Amino acid sequence: MSETISRIYLKEGREAPARLHHPWIFSGAIEKQEGNPAEAPIVQVVDSKGEFVAWGQYSPASQIRVRLLEWNDQVVVNDEWYYQRLAQAIDRRQKLIDDTEVNAYRLVYAEADLLPGLIVDRYDEFLVLQTLTLGMDRIKHKLAQILDELLHPQGIYERNDVDMRTLEGLPHSKTCLLGTTPPLLVKIKEGGYQFLVDIKEGQKTGFYLDQRENRNLVAKYAAGKKVLDCFCYTGGFSVYALGAGAQSVTRIDASGTVMALAEENLKLNGFPLQAEESVVGNAFQVLRNFRGQRRQFDLVILDPPKFAPSQRQMKKALRAYKDINLQALKLLPPGGILVTFSCSGLIDFRLFQSILTWAATDAGREVQILQRLSQASDHPLRLAFPESEYLKGFICRVL
Ligand code: SAH
Repeated sequence: MSETISRIYLKEGREAPARLHHPWIFSGAIEKQEGNPAEAPIVQVVDSKGEFVAWGQYSPASQIRVRLLEWNDQVVVNDEWYYQRLAQAIDRRQKLIDDTEVNAYRLVYAEADLLPGLIVDRYDEFLVLQTLTLGMDRIKHKLAQILDELLHPQGIYERNDVDMRTLEGLPHSKTCLLGTTPPLLVKIKEGGYQFLVDIKEGQKTGFYLDQRENRNLVAKYAAGKKVLDCFCYTGGFSVYALGAGAQSVTRIDASGTVMALAEENLKLNGFPLQAEESVVGNAFQVLRNFRGQRRQFDLVILDPPKFAPSQRQMKKALRAYKDINLQALKLLPPGGILVTFSCSGLIDFRLFQSILTWAATDAGREVQILQRLSQASDHPLRLAFPESEYLKGFICRVL
């Protein structure tokens, strides 16, 4: 048996993070390899003395050469192993989320659920699967079969049009893996509301499931208020704000397609549509125009796209976050509420707070933080993998 095992030897002293269950082995940490790891579904990672560290999936094209799956040398990573890990991840969601209230959520959050590179989201009767690494991509049909056994969805759709796959040498791919292809729009329920989700073309896997709990928290500030939902996408925050009794909600998004869907979602939930409240345009400019028109809002929500996808874009991203927050602060009267997010993993809470401080200083405003926000609990942060935290937010009050 042992001669068939492909083995990755780490350089001396490079095993510490892996022993602490960080799941990534970078190419630079590897001393040598035995066997044929590129062909092996599972490789054994050992330290420089040959002592077992973990089992993992190998990816020859990626800087992250091995993703670790299992730290017990006695355990065999086979179909049954994947079945168990998936069943456990699903069970954790079922304990967390009441299906009668919410039927769209993340079932598997990759490394944070000990399944590196694998994302599975549920939208009512459909599952959406993303395999971001070679190891998971190779077994996607097997994974779909297991998910079918566990959940019996109507269909499982592969949404692999993610740029991260290029780093793994994987092409983009969008197709139905199993069962029925989802319709153009899938209707989901969340927080007592309904939303239409475009699984095939929408952003991420169709909906910002990670903001579910924040939508509820933000709604608490919306009653009777003039709300501005900036970067509104398909209207998640807008619907909750109107549901909580907002006086009005103005929406901004750069995409006409998502704005049309936001309007559909407002109508679906019985909120009358005021066309003038939909502004399709560049938020940076629209907020400046509003300022020029002396418009004010009581509650501004800023949920921009990831401005800092890599370290190289950091400087530009910091300027963008600062600018958009500065423009938003200028639209708020004393007592106004700013809800501001960053989904850039590279920007931590401390840095995000500093950006906000720069914006407040430039705006000449005193600002209090009332609450810190993070990603919803179906997107957990695993302590041994701090990279699983990406969404940060603040609910602030302007004095
Ligand atoms: N708050 C939303 C998610 C926002 S995603 C929700 O909870 O569902 C970010 C959105 O910003 C996307 O819809 C994208 O189209 C939009 N966007 C990106 N750049 C923009 C810009 N410069 N101005 C306005 N909208 C922009």
